[in-house]
Amino acid sequence: MKRRRHAKNLPNMLYADPKGRVYDHPHYKMTGFSGKTPQPLSADDLIPMPEYSKLFFIPDCPAVGWDPSRKEYVTVPEVETEGALTKSFAVAAFPEAGLVRSHLPAADYRRKTYTLPMWGYTAVGYGDDKYWIAAFRVEDNAKWDPRNYDDRKLVPAIKRYVKQSSSGPLLNHLIACATTNHCFAAKNLFLRRWEAPMPVSRGCNSSCLGCLSLQKDPSCEASHQRISFKPTREEIVSIAVRHLNEAPEPVVSFGQGCEGEPLTEYRLIAESIREIRRRTDRGTINLNTNGSSPERIRMIAESGLDSIRISMNSARKGFYEAYYRPKGYGFKDVVASIALSEDLGLYTMVNYLVFPGITDQEAEIEALEKLIRKTGLHFLHLKNLCIDPQLYLDSMPASKSAAVGMKTMAGMLAKAFPGMDMGYFNRPLR
Ligand code: SF4
Repeated sequence: MKRRRHAKNLPNMLYADPKGRVYDHPHYKMTGFSGKTPQPLSADDLIPMPEYSKLFFIPDCPAVGWDPSRKEYVTVPEVETEGALTKSFAVAAFPEAGLVRSHLPAADYRRKTYTLPMWGYTAVGYGDDKYWIAAFRVEDNAKWDPRNYDDRKLVPAIKRYVKQSSSGPLLNHLIACATTNHCFAAKNLFLRRWEAPMPVSRGCNSSCLGCLSLQKDPSCEASHQRISFKPTREEIVSIAVRHLNEAPEPVVSFGQGCEGEPLTEYRLIAESIREIRRRTDRGTINLNTNGSSPERIRMIAESGLDSIRISMNSARKGFYEAYYRPKGYGFKDVVASIALSEDLGLYTMVNYLVFPGITDQEAEIEALEKLIRKTGLHFLHLKNLCIDPQLYLDSMPASKSAAVGMKTMAGMLAKAFPGMDMGYFNRPLR
């Protein structure tokens, strides 16, 4: 494995004061973590931070930087700022969608007693009058570009949409998703374009450490309000048929961040798809799922489903089960679901939740290549796993397998599977 070297002109290390004001350090340089280990950042690792990215500071966690004069990593609990010695905390970025982080933020978590909310925390620094993040672009897609989501157009669009439809609990839920949760898919429903969501399930047979819609840890709020009712087939069908008939490149997706696991409502979904397809053959019907039941997937596929996206954090059983904490199913069921989906002619995608220092381990890449060969999947999403880095690293099985670097891993997969697409977003099929 090629020895990593620090870039010549590294950006400055960032730190925040207790009020969350962000500063760049006059001497220490930016670094990033692979798992729990600080790593040199090469110029190839860094890109300017796009404007719709977010910045966070991590209370009680001093920043870690690179000291170019002593050639060593330093933990920085205090910094002289504006003439006063202040406590200093690490800073992290959350990149715009379509970017995969190559390094975690450089932070010392030893004094942290709370759980960070679910974001894809990424290493960030400052230099040449701009922020730099350790990430690379895996897909550039205008349909999910924040610059194409203007809320001044959304509210009138919702009013027009509601005027022309019968209201119901699902529609009200989706209005809240579009306006409160700022879900782009929900906004698309009212802007009558591209991919729209169809949440239906309250329950789930997994208990993911980083579940977006249900968190038991009082210090960490779930990102989304989980749907609290079971929509009717009639309301699902009317919203879906309207979107498939009206929108350009339409996709309707079951399985959203604001619900549990859609396979817990497999009958409702199968009946709804059958009725949707009786009324229109336009567009794509997709299912985002944890892939826990091949038999339920078969039933939904036979009702007229077009594509499926099965989520996993790892192609290694121990890592998968440590994160998903499955109830009543196991990793082998998920692999069987991917293979079956491909056999049934669905456009089969894996939503690969990636994490620097784990996903790019040689043992993980080997396991993933084996899974891809075995299942013949069509598309691999590389999605930053949104979770407290310390929680995830402390919850995964120990492994001495070397990490080759996230970008190197992506390159190895592209070379090994030239026929498989890689990206970040679902695809319309017709
Ligand atoms: S599969 Fe989805 S809903 Fe279920 S626990 Fe995991 S993230 Fe939450």
